[in-house]
Amino acid sequence: MLTAILIMSGLALVIGVILGFAAIQFKAEENPLVDKIDAILPQTQCGQCGFPGCRPYAEAISRGEADINRCPPGGDEGIHRLADLLGMDAKPLGDGQAQAKAKSVAVIDEQRCIGCTLCLQACPVDAIVGAAKQMHTVIAKQCTGCELCVAPCPVECITMEALTEDITQWKWTYPRYDIKNSALSTDR
Ligand code: SF4
Ligand code: SF4
Repeated sequence: MLTAILIMSGLALVIGVILGFAAIQFKAEENPLVDKIDAILPQTQCGQCGFPGCRPYAEAISRGEADINRCPPGGDEGIHRLADLLGMDAKPLGDGQAQAKAKSVAVIDEQRCIGCTLCLQACPVDAIVGAAKQMHTVIAKQCTGCELCVAPCPVECITMEALTEDITQWKWTYPRYDIKNSALSTDR
């Protein structure tokens, strides 16, 4: 019995050492720039930039494989913050990209909802609650306004409603210093 315990403990120790060594040796080098870029992106995970979420887009920007002006939800302000971070010139939202839109949230007409769960599956941030054949509703606080749930709805009972800005949504806009005209602009 004691021999078995000693053998098992020895084996566990050896495996532990091997795993520890492997974790150090094969650790994927995190690029801190990706974290900084990702922190500026709006985390809507909507895919409007052409990438499957904000992180993959941040990685592509850090590798110089994608431009900084492909994120409509981030809008002009996001582009300026990325330009400042990367020491680049800001540019207007990318060609063919939808113009930056006012913040909005999805609203489900619960009377018309048939409970097919398609919107729930489409939502990248789990902002929709409901069950099969039951009414679905959107948790407005969690909704990023990415509109990914609108198209799949077979009864078209989801609408996007613009958020009216009040003290709870107001945030300090990122000042932009126009070097060429040496002017500070905080236009909203
Ligand atoms: S509820 Fe709709 S609009 Fe809101 S985050 Fe989910 S998919 Fe996007
Ligand atoms: S997709 Fe439309 S009908 Fe289906 S659960 Fe969502 S809101 Fe209801």
